[in-house]
Amino acid sequence: MAWDFETDPQFQQELDWIDEFVRSEVEPLRYVIESAYDTRNATRNKLIRPLQDIVRKRQLWACHLGPELGGQGYGQVKLALMNEILGRVPGIAPIVFGCQAPDSGNAEILAHYGTAAQKARYLRPLLDNEIVSCFSMTEPQGGADPKVFRTAARLEDGHWVINGEKWFSSNARYAAFLIVMAVTDPDAPPYKRMSMFIVPAETPGLEIIRNLGYSAERAPSHGYLRYNNVRVPADHMLGGRGEAFAVAQTRLGGGRIHHAMRTIGEARRALDMMCERALSRETQGERLSQKQMVQEKIADSWMELEQFRLLVLRTAWRIDKYKDYLKVRKDISAVKALMPRVLHDIAARALHIHGSLGISTEMPFAEMVLDSFHMGLADGPTEVHKITVARQLLRDYRPSNDIFPSYHVPALRAQAFERYGDLIEDVA
Ligand SMILES: Cc1cc2nc3c(=O)[nH]c(=O)nc-3n(C[C@H](O)[C@H](O)[C@H](O)COP(=O)(O)OP(=O)(O)OC[C@H]3O[C@@H](n4cnc5c(N)ncnc54)[C@H](O)[C@@H]3O)c2cc1C
Repeated sequence: MAWDFETDPQFQQELDWIDEFVRSEVEPLRYVIESAYDTRNATRNKLIRPLQDIVRKRQLWACHLGPELGGQGYGQVKLALMNEILGRVPGIAPIVFGCQAPDSGNAEILAHYGTAAQKARYLRPLLDNEIVSCFSMTEPQGGADPKVFRTAARLEDGHWVINGEKWFSSNARYAAFLIVMAVTDPDAPPYKRMSMFIVPAETPGLEIIRNLGYSAERAPSHGYLRYNNVRVPADHMLGGRGEAFAVAQTRLGGGRIHHAMRTIGEARRALDMMCERALSRETQGERLSQKQMVQEKIADSWMELEQFRLLVLRTAWRIDKYKDYLKVRKDISAVKALMPRVLHDIAARALHIHGSLGISTEMPFAEMVLDSFHMGLADGPTEVHKITVARQLLRDYRPSNDIFPSYHVPALRAQAFERYGDLIEDVA
């Protein structure tokens, strides 16, 4: 029997340390740092670098990476338990622990597909958070449908020349390099048309039209970019020609589950606040916590969060077991599709229980609710992931040959009578 819902005591000590460190040292930074991704900002570096050193000394740096890349080679289950603590302070705590998106995924691609020269120039400083990076795929006319992408690269005198527009290229303004998807083979089948390129940020022709922001983001950072005859040497292609989607999948499997792990922490923070408020606020002669409709909100939130957490942990366990993202595609898609709903519903209830204060910019709930929509779009829209879950499930079923389904009661009863008829003479 190997079903075990306990963390081993040694690792629990590490988790307790991380929890305390995040609450006391990292959480306050959310009020003083504009963007933890801005590695050129002196104030940011003064505040974040010493914390990163502490994490390194504690051997908790970049735990998602194998030891050959300077990480701890934690499996996904350990990462899940750790990431759900880091999720309390999205955008900052992962940077302090060296595992932030999109850099973690971009590092994964570089480690898998990069040449020795690419690794030396981009991977090492990326892993050390000396620089940050950007993943530039989505275009104004669509993000989830490869057939609509127009940004193209053509080969010219040993260089690839890239032209087109991308948007929602997060952190483009801070990035030292961008990983860009561009059409190189327009007549190939949809998933073979595009290739992946490394574009150094200083390459002439790379223009930031503007930075899009959402909600209470202090520094709008989702770049609307134009590539105007951007030339990169031929060896800046990452992976094979026409293989951009295969390469992208390498980063998305891990990326999606890590987002889900962090979302547990964000939703738990909303639940903590909801409970504190319910116990503190009195209206019409009793505390909110004594009102059954408030109790229902708290109970629903806890149950949904625990269900989600168990699915995330089980998915993490299956990734560790099979070490093959294709085998856990359904699980990852299910987690990805559930994630926005869990965060949305819990944050919306927390917002509501806080009354007018809840919708104000003095509380984090409106931002969390909006963040849930972000989660439902980025890394594949919810609808697409639900389609994946359904298709994979349906593979295990066969159509019935009859107009009646295979579990139609009269047919089953007739079969049962045929089998047991001799033994049950008395039954009419
Ligand atoms: C905060 C944020 C950060 C982002 N960062 C990045 C980044 O760093 N790099 C990058 O390349 N992209 C990034 N994106 C873009 C993101 O990947 C896209 O928004 C996403 O792929 C959806 O594309 P779209 O916005 O064009 O929506 P569309 O594809 O136009 O979708 C419109 C609507 O249709 C729905 N839909 C889509 N497909 C189906 C379907 N098959 N059936 C039914 N409904 C469907 C969608 O859910 C949505 O509601 C980011 C987005 C956000 C919000």
